[in-house]
Amino acid sequence: MENSAYLAFAIPAFFLFVWLEYKIAKRKKMKNVFKYESSISNISIGIAERLLNLFITGSFYQLFIFIYDNYRLFTLPNTWWIWIVMLLATDFVWYWYHRLGHEINIFWGAHIVHHQSEEFNYTVAARITTLQAIVRNVFWCVLPFVGFHPSLVMAILVVHGVYSFFTHTQVIGKLGWLEHILITPSLHGVHHASDEKYLDKNYGDVFVFWDKLFGTFQAEEEKPNYGLTHPIKSYSFLWQHFHYYLELYEAAKRQQTIKGKLKIYFGSPAVMDQDIRPEIEKKWLSKNKKDGYHFPFKTYLNIQVFVAFSTMLAMTYFYSSLDSLTLLTGTAFVLITLINIGAQLEQKRWVPYLEHIRFLIFSLFIIYESGYYYLLIFPFILILIIERIFNFSKWYQQKVLKIF
Ligand SMILES: [Zn+2]
Ligand SMILES: [Zn+2]
Repeated sequence: MENSAYLAFAIPAFFLFVWLEYKIAKRKKMKNVFKYESSISNISIGIAERLLNLFITGSFYQLFIFIYDNYRLFTLPNTWWIWIVMLLATDFVWYWYHRLGHEINIFWGAHIVHHQSEEFNYTVAARITTLQAIVRNVFWCVLPFVGFHPSLVMAILVVHGVYSFFTHTQVIGKLGWLEHILITPSLHGVHHASDEKYLDKNYGDVFVFWDKLFGTFQAEEEKPNYGLTHPIKSYSFLWQHFHYYLELYEAAKRQQTIKGKLKIYFGSPAVMDQDIRPEIEKKWLSKNKKDGYHFPFKTYLNIQVFVAFSTMLAMTYFYSSLDSLTLLTGTAFVLITLINIGAQLEQKRWVPYLEHIRFLIFSLFIIYESGYYYLLIFPFILILIIERIFNFSKWYQQKVLKIF
């Protein structure tokens, strides 16, 4: 895929802008722009999405071609103005994909992750899950169906991807007359707010007029409070991804009829029973985590983020030349690392066992690739020794996770 090499350059640019934003926010003495744990979890979610996207982008491109070849309504000419029409068409589809993402529970379960951050900065732009990417791609199928060529669609989607990155910042203020034409950082900040008057507003990506047309426009007046109306109190990678689907499952279970169950999945998030969240939080969230807890070994967290990021970047760049075993191992290694980071922030008791699994995946792969198969038993023996003789898990829980 030609796209993947391009992405391998775009991803480091992301970090350059995050760094610049951090420096500017510091110089302007702006408060509450960044929070360490929140940035780590935003970036973790972004790494997983970029990685898993490698596996789905190609299939959706094939699907776009299939729809275009067999079912397109019109054959649109390949001239300069088709780009303008397409920018408008994609922005229109985006508006509805995004709006339905807020109004239908099963879609909101994927999109809610983008709104969990209580800080608003460039790292939030990375907070997109693979599930959301899949939902979005299903909506994009409309474009080849209308008659836009799949290769043009892929090109314009890059424009959307880049544009929506730049609207996630507080360091750029209001932009004068542009506020009347484009979705600016100020207008998208309103979309991320939990204040009553800002709820369910500004769904557009590039242009502001869809919101004005469909009655969802709101300019920034008071400074927004960012995040969800009911914040999720957890930096766990798994919890952030799946808590809303657990809530839906629980809510559907309480319904007696099939119609009632379907109403939960396809109904509005606004009518969800608010008692369900606290109940499942009690069941699933860490019981060890103390208020105000911060994982004490930031360097260890940073190294893990860097390793997960570098592995994802290398896989992106070399994607087409990697065999299935390498892709599978790399993916498992990165995902376990991201789950590990979230679990460390949440003082989860099972982190040491996850460390063992990650070590096994990594070492068994290296040994297998080197061809010294008789060494495959050694990683198991090593774990047995450090557990039996040094009581590793107990030591880890007490000294690293501070669980007593
Ligand atoms: Zn949204
Ligand atoms: Zn956003």
